[in-house]
Amino acid sequence: MHTDVLVVGAGPTGMMVANELLLAGVSTVVVDRLSRRSELSRAGGVQSRTLAALDQRGLLEPLLATGDYPISAGHFAGFPLSLDFARHRLPWRSVPQVVIEGFLEEHLATHGLRVRRDHELVAIDQDSDGVTATFADGTALRGRYLVAADGAHSTVRSLLRVDFPGQSGTATVVAADVRLGGVDDRMSHVWSPDGHWAAVFPLGTDSQGRRLSRLVLGGPRHSLPRDVEVTEEEIRESLRTVLGSNARLLELRYGRRITDTARQAAQYRHGRVLLAGDAAHVHLPLGAQGMNTGMQDAINLGWKLGATVRGWAPDGLLDTYHAERHPAGAAVLRNVQAQCLVMDWAGTRAPDVLATKELLTDLARLPDVQRHLGDLMSGMAIRYAMPGVDRHPLIGRPVPDLPLDPTRLHALLRSGRGILLDPEGEHGKLADLWSDRVDHVDYVRQGTEPMLVRPDGYVCWAGDPDDLEPALGHWFGQAG
Ligand SMILES: Cc1cc2nc3c(=O)[nH]c(=O)nc-3n(C[C@H](O)[C@H](O)[C@H](O)COP(=O)(O)OP(=O)(O)OC[C@H]3O[C@@H](n4cnc5c(N)ncnc54)[C@H](O)[C@@H]3O)c2cc1C
Repeated sequence: MHTDVLVVGAGPTGMMVANELLLAGVSTVVVDRLSRRSELSRAGGVQSRTLAALDQRGLLEPLLATGDYPISAGHFAGFPLSLDFARHRLPWRSVPQVVIEGFLEEHLATHGLRVRRDHELVAIDQDSDGVTATFADGTALRGRYLVAADGAHSTVRSLLRVDFPGQSGTATVVAADVRLGGVDDRMSHVWSPDGHWAAVFPLGTDSQGRRLSRLVLGGPRHSLPRDVEVTEEEIRESLRTVLGSNARLLELRYGRRITDTARQAAQYRHGRVLLAGDAAHVHLPLGAQGMNTGMQDAINLGWKLGATVRGWAPDGLLDTYHAERHPAGAAVLRNVQAQCLVMDWAGTRAPDVLATKELLTDLARLPDVQRHLGDLMSGMAIRYAMPGVDRHPLIGRPVPDLPLDPTRLHALLRSGRGILLDPEGEHGKLADLWSDRVDHVDYVRQGTEPMLVRPDGYVCWAGDPDDLEPALGHWFGQAG
């Protein structure tokens, strides 16, 4: 055995899961087929739930200190969501994926975990003790578990013949990183009468302080095979017809065509192999949900895999990864498909689509609808189906902001351990029995709701004191 866990793929999902495994004290090797990090920006935004997870690990402040990343409330199907209705402490930020990857790779390296590059997995073999991965150069590595975070075209998924149901792409659109003139790049989405549309989002600034934007162009003119090169002329023509003659293309950094393929692995766990991120689900990156869903898979999986390797995981803990994250992924696929339809992705101009869009345009201005869509897109609407979920409104949800000195709160959550918040100090004796896995916190302000929080920041007990001991056993294994 070379390592406890072998993570294949050093994208945001793979590196996030590696960070969780480091916290859990589990030996981890991360491999990637690329010789160096991709320079493509791809994901342009980070949602509230992912920001909160980074914050809980003490990673948000240093990440945001690396540049100037505008705040916004995002959008749903091109309808802007207003910050006036954003009800989460950390609203959407335009942090490009390339920045997040660089940051995470350096963070892991400072903790002694260097990504092993030029390692392309070509074969995989698992038995009852572990998994052996063979690479293109003929070398092999063996781990007790393997996390497949190798992206949308996952080799591991293909080699294991994982059932990957869904729908194939029906159209493509252009996604380009550009510098624009004469365009307001605050999250706008514009349609022209001929069925073409353009969406513009801010992507922060480059090293010379120049504003970069993500431009997405759709409609019949752009729905070309994925290998057809995106040209400056194609972009200029659409800018002119959709955004008007003031819109100018100053620079095209890169452009690619993306499809509306929507598929999800039927099972996220295959013995000792766990699929995560794009390897487990692919869909249009609408409203910044691709990278974010992958990073949240990683946070959910990391501590459960860590507990399994360390030997304290209760029966079935690792299987809750699929049980919780598959429905979360399916919900993302559904909202992306709904957005795709309303945005008239393929530029059909079909009367029923236009009528639906007109109705939703009015609805999307209502404060309650804004809040609902904001929760959906930010990842904050996720509620895991865990024991007791029907008995208390906090159970299954991310821990709310707590009335604690922020420094102490961060230090607590950063440890990656469970937390029992016990403002009245009633549960100390019980908590002592799990003190190697759960921190007992009785210095929160009185009146705070007592709750048990899992290492991934989700509440797994609140309310009835009789339910606490079963919850400790269910999530943290046997006492003592
Ligand atoms: C144009 C564009 C815009 C996007 N915008 C957004 C957005 O705004 N918000 C958002 O949340 N998402 C967005 N996405 C989606 C986002 O980029 C992906 O969801 C995200 O990259 C998934 O992360 P991952 O770590 O799961 O996979 P990846 O980032 O694809 O990482 C997989 C890694 O595995 C490696 N690998 C692959 N095969 C092998 C192998 N056989 N052996 C070893 N290594 C291998 C690859 O080299 C790669 O480094 C966008 C995507 C595109 C293309």
